[in-house]
Amino acid sequence: MKGYAITDIGKVRSENQDSVRYTENVSPAFGILAVCDGMGGAKAGSIASATALDIFVGRVSAHLANRRDKTKLDNAVLEAVDEANAVVYEHSLADLACEGMGTTLVAALVTAKSCRVVNVGDSRAYLISGDTITQVTRDHSFVEDLVERGIISRADARTHPRKNIITRAVGVEPMVECDVFAPKLKKNDLLLLCSDGLTNAVADEELLETVSQCKDLEKAAQALLDLALQRGAPDNVTVGLLRK
Ligand code: MG
Repeated sequence: MKGYAITDIGKVRSENQDSVRYTENVSPAFGILAVCDGMGGAKAGSIASATALDIFVGRVSAHLANRRDKTKLDNAVLEAVDEANAVVYEHSLADLACEGMGTTLVAALVTAKSCRVVNVGDSRAYLISGDTITQVTRDHSFVEDLVERGIISRADARTHPRKNIITRAVGVEPMVECDVFAPKLKKNDLLLLCSDGLTNAVADEELLETVSQCKDLEKAAQALLDLALQRGAPDNVTVGLLRK
């Protein structure tokens, strides 16, 4: 298992409110990759994303590292999201400067036998297997709802003026609902996790093409980031890659 993650402020924003982390363990073997894209004024967005990432990754790593913990992985993931949500939400109530803050969260947990992807918001996970790319997550966003209801096309969604509105976020309400996926991951398959700063600038086919041209994860992540930067990167850009 290998992973690599990179984040960049982009060309326009004054602060990077995205957070990313890759962590792996040898025995038992597991890898965790997580991306959060914070929202909120001043420093609040980065506090939300850093806090949610920290709580989620800490909680899930502790679960995976403890062989005696027989809690099902799905339950452990749901509990970790609940806890991240509670901590960010309580912080937002306690600190006036953080009122209303929240964050997306997309994460992948890979062990020798299983894989889970969890999502809240519009950061995404893709599965790259051979020469195909598949979006694993479904965006919790206003435009995704319009696409699914057949009101606008997927192409229109990319340029829609309200494409930044998300319908679910970690930390904005006392409870949050997440989606959990269990994609089948074969040896050498890649999971790409990213914030919308990447996907708004780079189309799915280009993600695949760029990653396929690079052998190592570090070069692939850097090439994706460079592509977003070349296109003006109006938002923070985050790329995480995990190869089984
Ligand atoms: Mg963003």
